[in-house]
Amino acid sequence: MLSSSQLATLAEHGEERTAEIGETLFQIGDRSYPFVAILEGEIAVTDAAGHEIVRHGASGFLGEMNLLSGQTVFLTAVVTEPMRYIAVDREELRRLLFEDGSLSDLLLSAFVERRELLQQREGIGIEIVGPHDSGETRRLVEFARRMRLPHSWLFPEEDPEAAALIEHLDAADIPFVRLPGGGELRRPSNGELSRALGIGLELGPREEVDLLVIGGGPAGLGAAVYGASEGLDTIVIESTVLGGQAGASRRIENYLGFPAGISGTELATRAVGQARKFGARTATGYRARSLEPGISRHLVRLEEGNEVTGRAVLLSTGADYRRLPVDDLDLYEGISIFYAAGPPEAQLCAAQRVGVVGGGNSAGQAAVWLARGGALVTLLHRRASLSETMSHYLIDELARYGVAVRDESEVSALHGEEGRLESVTLTDRSGLPFSFLFLFLGASPCTDWLSETVARDSDGFILTGRDAGAEGLLETSVPGIYAAGDVRAGSIKRCAAAVGEGGMVVRFVHDRLSLAG
Ligand SMILES: Cc1cc2nc3c(=O)[nH]c(=O)nc-3n(C[C@H](O)[C@H](O)[C@H](O)COP(=O)(O)OP(=O)(O)OC[C@H]3O[C@@H](n4cnc5c(N)ncnc54)[C@H](O)[C@@H]3O)c2cc1C
Repeated sequence: MLSSSQLATLAEHGEERTAEIGETLFQIGDRSYPFVAILEGEIAVTDAAGHEIVRHGASGFLGEMNLLSGQTVFLTAVVTEPMRYIAVDREELRRLLFEDGSLSDLLLSAFVERRELLQQREGIGIEIVGPHDSGETRRLVEFARRMRLPHSWLFPEEDPEAAALIEHLDAADIPFVRLPGGGELRRPSNGELSRALGIGLELGPREEVDLLVIGGGPAGLGAAVYGASEGLDTIVIESTVLGGQAGASRRIENYLGFPAGISGTELATRAVGQARKFGARTATGYRARSLEPGISRHLVRLEEGNEVTGRAVLLSTGADYRRLPVDDLDLYEGISIFYAAGPPEAQLCAAQRVGVVGGGNSAGQAAVWLARGGALVTLLHRRASLSETMSHYLIDELARYGVAVRDESEVSALHGEEGRLESVTLTDRSGLPFSFLFLFLGASPCTDWLSETVARDSDGFILTGRDAGAEGLLETSVPGIYAAGDVRAGSIKRCAAAVGEGGMVVRFVHDRLSLAG
């Protein structure tokens, strides 16, 4: 609920209007709508089938994430009692959110929460039609999931209505997508879908900037905030969703300044808002395909055909943590399956049966840490002996703290309800009753697209500083091209470290540009 002083602030930035019963303030498919703060009266929000989702009355407000992202409207709002309300234009609201911390906290948390609820409801948002075994359909569904777009996946093999939608199409047109409000797309790229929904910037064929950031995770967004706030014309190119791995994490507990933890979505939303506030541009759904170093400018070609040049380039494409190839993994991640074991996890797992998957030192350290916290830990790994992959002192520690080790073991299925793990099945069909699982399967850097342009280590991570024969700490083997965050060889794979490195790069870019004149 908005307080009276918040309503007064909104009134200064918006326009007071009235609406009669039955009037529609916005409807599915609209490209935009203003933020609506209700002074008197009532309004119902409905889905495409006319089902009522919620009603808002005096001191309530309408709006969710698409007010910030500019996405097409997914719902319809119809007045049910004569209304007096304040309408605040979207751009004006954004400006206000930067200035007013408490209003920003209230609205952002409500928008994020509303989006999460919408995602859980059937029949809202885009419809993606394609069979279970279609890789292209899975690619688009995964993109929609990571973008947190409300969506439904319709299977033509099970649903006659879905089958009818694609019966006249070629295989090359699948997946078929129906947009809110009636538009249609055939096998869209991630970028085409984003732009059809009005999300993000449409790049020109050739763009020129001071700082070109490739990868919009914490490192890239950190660089964008510092770069843009310090006067550099900055653009971030992101192939999927701004926020990177951190954005996909359910809760980040150890980020400075958030003692109660913060959801990845909220951290990413805030970071993107902050970068945009300073004038950084973000282009999502564009994937860097190649890098051509130059003298005063470096050129990055994108898969979508656009070219972007930067006087300095930051490579912050991060890494993909290897995930278990099992069904429904995402339902458990962040609730009972984790990729790091810190104090909160140790506390959560005390006196619980816990599986740690992986044969490297990070798995060994986590197993010991959890066992010391009172968990009953089993370490599962694929090889015949742990000594092939883990330091001997850690193998001794595992024995000392009573960690059971199962060689040649791989998880093939998860069992549980509502994200709470109850047991796992192994590939040899045996079952183990775990309440929590920790995965340490290694990470691969997203650097294949760079081929030989910058020096990389044997695992593909980008070398910087002395290791790359470069002068600057975060500079790669090519002057003016930098690397930060998880993609950098030897980096600490943590959110705060990535943000810090992104910020540091901006200092080095300034030094370089001032020398270049
Ligand atoms: C499940 C999970 C939970 C985590 N929890 C924590 C935690 O609690 N605390 C903590 O400190 N850390 C945590 N981490 C680690 C933390 O999220 C990472 O260290 C951090 O996100 C690294 O940031 P980054 O910007 O370097 O890379 P990333 O976050 O990986 O971002 C890189 C971005 O680059 C994009 N990209 C890749 N290739 C291209 C290309 N060719 N063109 C354009 N864009 C591209 C990717 O789509 C991605 O968005 C967690 C990680 C995971 C996976």
